[in-house]
Amino acid sequence: MHNSVRYLKMVGPRRAAALQKLGINTVADLLYHFPRRYDDRSRLLPVSAYGQGETATVRGTVLAGQDLKPRRGLTITKLAVNDGMNIFYAVWYNQPYVKKNLPPGAPVLLTGKIEKGFGATQLKVEDYELDDGEDRLLHAGRIVPVYPLTGQLNQRLLRSVVKAALDSIAGRVAELLPASLLENHSLMPRERALFQAHFPDTMEDAGQARRRFIFEELFLFQLLLAARRQGVERQKKPFHYRGGGLLVKRFLKQLPYSLTAAQERVWAEISGDMAEPAPMCRLLQGDVGSGKTVICALALLKAVDGGLQGALMAPTEILAEQHYLNLKKSFADLGVPVCLLTGSTRRQEREELLEQVRAGACPVVVGTHALIQEGVAFKNLALAVIDEQHRFGVRQRAVLQYKGRLPDTLVMTATPIPRTLALTLYGDLDISVIDELPPGRRPVKTYAVSRRQLGRVYRLIEEQVGQGRQAYIVCPLVEESEKMDIQAAVELAASLSEKELENYRVGLLHGRLKADEKEAVMAAFRRREIDVLVSTTVIEVGVDVPGAAVMVILDADRFGLAQLHQLRGRVGRSAHQSYCILVSNPGTEEAKARLLAMTGTGDGFALAEEDLRLRGPGEFCGTRQSGLPDFKIADLLRDWELLHLARAEAQRWVEEDRFLQKPESRLLMPEAEARFGKAENYLGVG
Ligand code: ADP
Ligand code: MG
Repeated sequence: MHNSVRYLKMVGPRRAAALQKLGINTVADLLYHFPRRYDDRSRLLPVSAYGQGETATVRGTVLAGQDLKPRRGLTITKLAVNDGMNIFYAVWYNQPYVKKNLPPGAPVLLTGKIEKGFGATQLKVEDYELDDGEDRLLHAGRIVPVYPLTGQLNQRLLRSVVKAALDSIAGRVAELLPASLLENHSLMPRERALFQAHFPDTMEDAGQARRRFIFEELFLFQLLLAARRQGVERQKKPFHYRGGGLLVKRFLKQLPYSLTAAQERVWAEISGDMAEPAPMCRLLQGDVGSGKTVICALALLKAVDGGLQGALMAPTEILAEQHYLNLKKSFADLGVPVCLLTGSTRRQEREELLEQVRAGACPVVVGTHALIQEGVAFKNLALAVIDEQHRFGVRQRAVLQYKGRLPDTLVMTATPIPRTLALTLYGDLDISVIDELPPGRRPVKTYAVSRRQLGRVYRLIEEQVGQGRQAYIVCPLVEESEKMDIQAAVELAASLSEKELENYRVGLLHGRLKADEKEAVMAAFRRREIDVLVSTTVIEVGVDVPGAAVMVILDADRFGLAQLHQLRGRVGRSAHQSYCILVSNPGTEEAKARLLAMTGTGDGFALAEEDLRLRGPGEFCGTRQSGLPDFKIADLLRDWELLHLARAEAQRWVEEDRFLQKPESRLLMPEAEARFGKAENYLGVG
């Protein structure tokens, strides 16, 4: 199975190169390149049994053939074929060589569309095969596989190569899955499944073969996650948190509100993890505005109380700055210093800071990617918190973890992930969910309007600002032309403050501003010295200004659902009624569907499910950050039942064979590593 496809019949260097484009190098790769569908060409009926436009498979004998050249560049090959009852014409376009392949007298199987007219029947050939022996049938007269392809290959060739590969392995395929699993879940044995997945006897067999490989794929993946997770669980943190939790108690006492029941619950889960000997690996999910920050503050205090250090990493400078200011303020009375490290921290300040971090004089460090750069070293980092984790690559998370020795890790996200995907992406993480908003929040009223209605939108802003609220106006930012988009934001801010909103204080925020300029603008907005903040998407995640009650998103059709929901999450953070206005003239059906979903619900989980449905799992997760593995046959949406089964079985397997010493494990683990080990970026654990 691990031989190169080069050694197969019919595969020379050129075809091998073409196969490589499909990611096929070995015979195993080829056999795991599964058909995307099957055409049932097994029913052989005479042409007269088919109606106009139907796809037919017919067996017959070639009588005669001719090539017609009605105009330059077009050759029509017409063969007269006798199916035993009638004579009809098989037709090809620009494939003159078929006439040579199918001389008069040749027995042939033909598949294609039936066209009737002028007293004659034509069959526009999609596929054909010389019918010289039952078991050589590949392209017609049976259920045929239809493969995903690229340019230089065609279905006929791939079928033949796959057939050659199957012949080369017949009788020698080792089973991969444990016998108990095959039996308990009625899974088809591997060799039979390989044959049936490509050249099934019946559609039912094709289904069973695929089911086996879907299970195999999901099981191997879950096995890898379960094994890694167990590896982490077996490890012991080189520290424990001393102290009686006094800081946490004092912090909770001075908090101007009490925790919601959901916050209480997840805090119990997190502090429970921190008390365990094994490092915590936990994902904290909670919709925008559900109050994740305070939970992370508690965890940081627990670390400090225990005489250790905690770090909080955020994806943008604006957000890191906000966390820093928040924590600094609320930790001040507790005597806990907080420091901030970002890309724009000045050189000298940075040196001093790093020295303090290294000496342990800085117990709480907030920062951006700057935290994970070389030269940043902690005395005793015990807790790594990553906010808005979906904005980071997993490598970056891992690097932060490696700044400590087996630190507790908490990753937070407001981008809710449908359960199916969470199981796949975060199979090795525990998940806590804040499924409740702080009391008194009102759902954000969301409207989709066209650009013509902008006047009314500005009046809503005026009315709200009149009542002491503030507003955001977001202009889209498309990476390819950042400059132009920023220009648009600059011009909009200027024209608004001269015209539509001349009586109000309009501010401007975008990614090209220097860090201290950004800070100054955000500080002014927080202090309510700015009424309307015109911004690019730099405010997308995390920004928390409770006085803001209006979010206007221009060209809303250019944003994805998750982004729209995040942006909407910037308002509705107080007991006042908030508004989200989506301004656009949507061009596509999908854009309309997104806007409809936004106006229809404020529930991030429901939106995530909808997003997943609209875009499919690969797109949904975005390739770069999520690192959702590239499944060959499994489809997480369609196959969630098998996913649950595979996950349960994988966990059981790892529990029963703790050290993965069973002979089956020795087969399974290298295979799992080979298939999924490299795509490690989906892993929450470094
Ligand atoms: P997110 O989960 O989006 O990160 P934040 O942590 O920024 O949300 O919290 C949103 C707002 O809700 C903040 O202004 C915070 O002070 C407030 N908040 C958090 N928890 C509570 C609570 N239990 N009761 C009232 N307000 C709360
Ligand atoms: Mg947040």
